[in-house]
Amino acid sequence: MTADCLFCRIVEGAVPARVVHETDTVLAFHDIDPQAPTHVLVIPKEHHRAAGDLDPLTAGQVVQAAHHVAKSEGIAEDGYRLVFNTGRDGGQTVFHVHCHVLGGRRLNWPPG
Ligand code: ADP
Repeated sequence: MTADCLFCRIVEGAVPARVVHETDTVLAFHDIDPQAPTHVLVIPKEHHRAAGDLDPLTAGQVVQAAHHVAKSEGIAEDGYRLVFNTGRDGGQTVFHVHCHVLGGRRLNWPPG
């Protein structure tokens, strides 16, 4: 855990979140500023900065949990998008790796 990390504080329960899925290693909760009808963040409970820092098992668990969330939120059939914003140019603002699960409407491509 990293004391000054917002998402570590959510894992601890010190900051509230609308949790939709949890395992021993990952947590999924609604984004506070949704950019689509469904917008959930999936994070590893352990603090890592970016997707490339994850070991393959944890990376797989995050993606598997994201698909689980897509199914449980009812967006798996019509389609959805998984996004890992990474670093400054990638638009990352919270430096605890998180997978955005976005869906519930037709998403634009390319992104801005
Ligand atoms: P961006 O802010 O550009 O989307 P990130 O990819 O780093 O950059 O995403 C951080 C996400 O965390 C944002 O979508 C933001 O709305 C979300 N967020 C920030 N604080 C909270 C919080 N307390 N609970 C849930 N989601 C949060």
